[in-house]
Amino acid sequence: MLRLAEMGVFGELGEEFEEIVFFHDAASELRGIVAIHSTALGPSLGGTRFYPFKTEEDALRDVLRLARGMTYKASAAGLDLGGGKAVIIGDPKRIKSEALLRAYGRFLDSLGGRYVTAEDVGTTGEDMDVIRRETRHVTGVSPAMGGSGDPSPVTAWGVFQGLIACAEEAWKDASLAGRRVAIQGVGKVGYHLCKHLHEAGASLVVSDVDVDAVARAVRDFGVDTAEPDKIHAEECDVFAPCALGAVIRDDTIPSLRCRVVAGAANNQLAAPEHAEQLGELGILYAPDYIINAGGLVNVADELRGYDRERAMRQVDQIYRTLRQIFQMAKEQAVSTRRAADTFAMERVNRVGRLRQIWVPVR
Ligand code: NAD
Repeated sequence: MLRLAEMGVFGELGEEFEEIVFFHDAASELRGIVAIHSTALGPSLGGTRFYPFKTEEDALRDVLRLARGMTYKASAAGLDLGGGKAVIIGDPKRIKSEALLRAYGRFLDSLGGRYVTAEDVGTTGEDMDVIRRETRHVTGVSPAMGGSGDPSPVTAWGVFQGLIACAEEAWKDASLAGRRVAIQGVGKVGYHLCKHLHEAGASLVVSDVDVDAVARAVRDFGVDTAEPDKIHAEECDVFAPCALGAVIRDDTIPSLRCRVVAGAANNQLAAPEHAEQLGELGILYAPDYIINAGGLVNVADELRGYDRERAMRQVDQIYRTLRQIFQMAKEQAVSTRRAADTFAMERVNRVGRLRQIWVPVR
């Protein structure tokens, strides 16, 4: 269990995190934490997770872990953004209200833009619109308010670009025509990924616990179907996790029958060493936070005045980034996950350092 008093606020945390803010509004039952991991590349950006954490320690541990992840993700995506994240403790179904969200927005505003929020588990685009009434430091607001709307189609496009990089690496052939792709989860991202792969001539097998989602994919793209607990064991070229995290773990790895693991889901590896295990089996792994960065690139574009075409062009870069990471992994004889982390942190250090150059106030 993580106890602030035991670890010392400036001990373990101080070495890595820039700022951690706790805030509270008793009347609306708002209790939250913002963690700013790094602003070396720009303001920190990350979603607000609204979740009934069992303990405050759980909430703190999660927000720290997620904020650190955002630094890597934003850096590798080439954004001028740092890493941050927020959690609100409580059951959103029970306590989410206009007053709570607006109180939260006022606290965010007090951070002066060092942290910019977005939606995450337990929050929605509509919630971002409410927060927007109190602060500019929020993205993922509705198109009517100048926002980018649902990021899922953009995320799916990025995953598709990433799959082309994977195909080149695995088969020295960029075409996905005739490749068998097993998609776990055909929700918002998985459905759009099906569409791109179908148009590219891939052969698809999908699973979802939601029968309506499966029926829609069958109707629109003529996909094959598999049981949710068996999809990872399908004989295929690519296994694309697009539902839950931790699907690559000790009990699933031995049953994988694919050459590539690449999909939209966050935190696909149950533990970091699973990346090495995939490598040893000759399975190419596209690090999740690299290939699923399209949603982040999309909301980040709102900070410049949203332009869909510009955002899509930047999402296309996921292809090139993955190619570079695969190359680094080979040259340094490390897993693709490790290569991705090195790639991301190198940019934080290389570009973040430029802030030491003094420029006059304009
Ligand atoms: P979603 O909720 O729309 O879709 C997820 C789908 O997975 C749902 O249809 C759900 O029924 C299904 N599912 C749940 N458990 C399953 C199981 N055991 N087996 C098979 N299917 C199961 O979510 P989404 O927005 O499409 O996101 C999918 C994943 O991608 C998540 O891990 C999310 O964190 C990640 N992601 C999404 C975005 C985005 O832009 N939406 C961006 C980055 C990462």
